[in-house]
Amino acid sequence: MPFSRIHAFTFLIASSALVSYFIVMPRIGLGYDSHRFVAGRPLMLGGVLVAHDMGLAGHSDADAALHAITDAILGALGLGDIGEHFPDGDPKWRNADSRHFVLHAVQLAHQHGMKVGNCDLTIITESPKLRAAKPLMKASIAEMLGVPQSAVAVKAKTNEHMGWIGRGEGLAAMAVVMLVEQTEIG
Ligand code: MG
Repeated sequence: MPFSRIHAFTFLIASSALVSYFIVMPRIGLGYDSHRFVAGRPLMLGGVLVAHDMGLAGHSDADAALHAITDAILGALGLGDIGEHFPDGDPKWRNADSRHFVLHAVQLAHQHGMKVGNCDLTIITESPKLRAAKPLMKASIAEMLGVPQSAVAVKAKTNEHMGWIGRGEGLAAMAVVMLVEQTEIG
């Protein structure tokens, strides 16, 4: 093989190794949570107080939407689940503001050289209707995640009156979060 070809071949191998060293693959995570409705508690969803005659039972403020988002981030990082990071037997987290859990997960992502790319959230409940709260949740979640509002989707569904959600016993939330490489300019 002529020298110039060997040189080109060596350059190709070296440059592809460099590219694979510097490019971090995006990571995706899925989160799910559910909580039972109870009287006498405020209904917190997505870090927003939602007007309703019932709130959600739970050790913290029971914000199922933020718990699902926290688990999605932890899942993308391969770092366990929310219960491992914030045990519900710990009195420290009694009535805790769930924004703290999301911010903790975002901080963990930063420590791993990642940041949130986008978040897709679905809340499943028969009531209350979330039409008015959705834009507020979107803004609240975008601020927590450090992304523009265009990178956050908040979707609301009913369960068509089927099962425990359909009977209004509680609600569920599902979230998918994409983490991307954290760059100097990004
Ligand atoms: Mg929860």
